[in-house]
Amino acid sequence: MKKLNGKNRVVALLRKEAYSRVELARATGLGKSALTKVTKALFDEGIIEEAQVAVKQSSEQGRGRPETLLQLVPNIKFSLCFYLTKQGVSSYLIDFTGKIHAANEVDWPVDPANHDIHVAYSTDVLLNIVKQEANVLCAQHSLTLDQLELISIATFGKVSQQDGIVVHSQFFQDTNVKLAEIIGECLGVTTKIFNVDYCCAFQLQQMYPEKESFISLCLGLGLGLGLCLDGQLVTGRLGSTLGIGHVNYEPNGKKCYCGAKGCTEAYVTSDAIIDEIESLRGLSISGNDVSEKMQSIKQLLSSGDVAAHRSIEKVSQAVGDILAQLMVTFDISTIFMSGDTAVLFHYLEQYIRQYLTSDKRYQTLLTKPKIIRVTDVKASVGGLIQLTNSQIVI
Ligand SMILES: [Zn+2]
Repeated sequence: MKKLNGKNRVVALLRKEAYSRVELARATGLGKSALTKVTKALFDEGIIEEAQVAVKQSSEQGRGRPETLLQLVPNIKFSLCFYLTKQGVSSYLIDFTGKIHAANEVDWPVDPANHDIHVAYSTDVLLNIVKQEANVLCAQHSLTLDQLELISIATFGKVSQQDGIVVHSQFFQDTNVKLAEIIGECLGVTTKIFNVDYCCAFQLQQMYPEKESFISLCLGLGLGLGLCLDGQLVTGRLGSTLGIGHVNYEPNGKKCYCGAKGCTEAYVTSDAIIDEIESLRGLSISGNDVSEKMQSIKQLLSSGDVAAHRSIEKVSQAVGDILAQLMVTFDISTIFMSGDTAVLFHYLEQYIRQYLTSDKRYQTLLTKPKIIRVTDVKASVGGLIQLTNSQIVI
């Protein structure tokens, strides 16, 4: 990761909350004169402003002492974020502080009820949506495209974040799509591409700063992985996302959409869970979409349905298998779980824990796992917004 200069370090802190000069000096480690120089430059550029005076309780004297706080100027430096889901594309017009000024959602141009996730789109389909939404959201705020700082896109799949290439994704017909370049050239705005699981891990890092090392699993459309080691988010080569979903779980097992057989992802996605329970029970699960179906499954589990329990136990074994390997490899015990299937957390957690404790390695190598459910369903969107702003260098 690039080392930030003084200005960007101050801005990164102020993005979280307002700080006093004393607190800024402590947090950045900058000396008084260096900090004064940095804040003056940021004032001159119209990036920061003084907030209302806060009265902080002084513990020694027992009386309040007024203190001037510094904050980022809102309503400047706008960017557009696009978040791709199975249903369609969510778009957000944000300012430099991370505030959302306008948002919209459009469905992919097919009936979602008949939409198979393995049906992908041409890059043009996304490009048209991005163009249309960018114009709509900007027009609402009397902005022109050339006033935007950045366009960012979060997608599932293997993404080379450094060079903005979507190596492969369920959403695209083509592989190695130079998405950042295509959108950047068409709209004339610098474009960055992120993987949704990286966005989620980035957000978790901000939400739980005390967790220096963690594994973040997103169970839903795919099996997403985020990894944080000693406070640093880990990526593959060229900032690529960590692809654990296609690691083999069962040789010659279930067919995966990638073409291989027995990939872990083929056992643990929300669609795989629904298929498994439906085939065991010989009945389809009620619900119009994945989240409604997950609620139905939750009800089946709480009523003690044997087939539902057997399916979730199987899913938990596949997830537990991946987790055990990661935990042993990286010596991590904190695990976050998010995604559509997290609604089944109570049961998944129980079975995963059961699987892990039955693992012989557990006795010597595995630290007692701490599995935490991420209840914020918009964690990845929050991460995308923060990541987008973190790319704007002052
Ligand atoms: Zn696969």
